[in-house]
Amino acid sequence: MTETLAERWRAARPKAAGVHLDSGACSRQGFAAIDAAAQHARHEAEVGGYVALDAAAPVLDAGRAAVAALTGLAATDVVFTTGANHALSLLLDSWDGDRTAACLPGEYGPNLALLAANGFRVSALPVDEDGRLRVDAAADVLARDRPGLVHLTPLGSHRGIAQPLAPLAEVCRDLGLPLVVDAAQALGHLDCAVAPAAIYSASRKWLAGPRGVGVLAVHPELADRLRPRFPPSDPAAPLTVLQQLSHGESNAAARVGFSVAIGEHLAAGDGNVRARLAEVGRLTRTAMADVAGWRVVEPVDEPTAITTLEPTGGADPHRVRAWLIAERGIVTTACDARRAPNELTAPVLRLSPHVDVTSDDLELTAAALADASTI
Ligand SMILES: *Cc1c(COP(=O)(O)O)cnc(C)c1O
Repeated sequence: MTETLAERWRAARPKAAGVHLDSGACSRQGFAAIDAAAQHARHEAEVGGYVALDAAAPVLDAGRAAVAALTGLAATDVVFTTGANHALSLLLDSWDGDRTAACLPGEYGPNLALLAANGFRVSALPVDEDGRLRVDAAADVLARDRPGLVHLTPLGSHRGIAQPLAPLAEVCRDLGLPLVVDAAQALGHLDCAVAPAAIYSASRKWLAGPRGVGVLAVHPELADRLRPRFPPSDPAAPLTVLQQLSHGESNAAARVGFSVAIGEHLAAGDGNVRARLAEVGRLTRTAMADVAGWRVVEPVDEPTAITTLEPTGGADPHRVRAWLIAERGIVTTACDARRAPNELTAPVLRLSPHVDVTSDDLELTAAALADASTI
């Protein structure tokens, strides 16, 4: 019998202690990524950190090439960062154009804070009642009132709605507007190969790499227009913009681990993983549909593995999350309103299983949530 994607994914990593429904926060790493990072740390101790880094160049190049394959940009456009917020911070800090940005009302709170901290004025793009971008209306708004950049988070942290990334990318291309994409939840989950002006993500979420790593990919046309403020580019030995952006101390072992994890993702097939995650979302929402005291926020067929539950009977998602871990060994996320301050009004409970989730896991969770209504 051929092994399913779920079976291979499960067999490739340590056994979960309990039920892990928290990939939107941090997935479970596989043996290959864990071992590669440990091997690199060992090699650093043997030959020295900088010699080991040179020796790791091929695996890090492969990691960048994998990011390129998933984003539609080139391997030479990709730099490693310490995470998604760090990537956006680098980009905004180097911005040399008009400091206005258009984004969704449901934009991720820390991104809004970074835009504000960098002096950007933000306007909201039109959405429907689910918070989904209305592409035609957005095209009209953007044509009339051209922002310095369009920022899209194709999949948010607080709601499992898949935003129409490809149609918006086309609108931005037609209008000549730079599209910046926060793919922290979307890379390895939705099709992100739209070659935007810039795109960034985190390692630890759906790609199941180590913590403390992220990536930023910048199209050469945009890179030409960035002016990184640090480190200074010495005219005698000028640095490229990408060299400036990638400057700084880093955890090379974690970058090696991430490069291995993203390679495994490509080997499994991005399309296969995406299809399975869409199925996982449908199974999760179906299993939670009748749990008393909670309402499933997303349409059942939304093609993402993020399911959010809104309390309808006064349950506190933070208390329920803690209770689920302590009493049932089930790991979920409590998302407070600061994650999407212009869209979320009260905390929600997020279930974000990866491809390996079983119907038993989901039944256990539904039963636990019903019990949690009495805590
Ligand atoms: C997690 C997340 C981030 C931040 O990622 P870090 O790597 O922790 O900086 C940004 N945007 C979204 C949508 C996220 O879910």
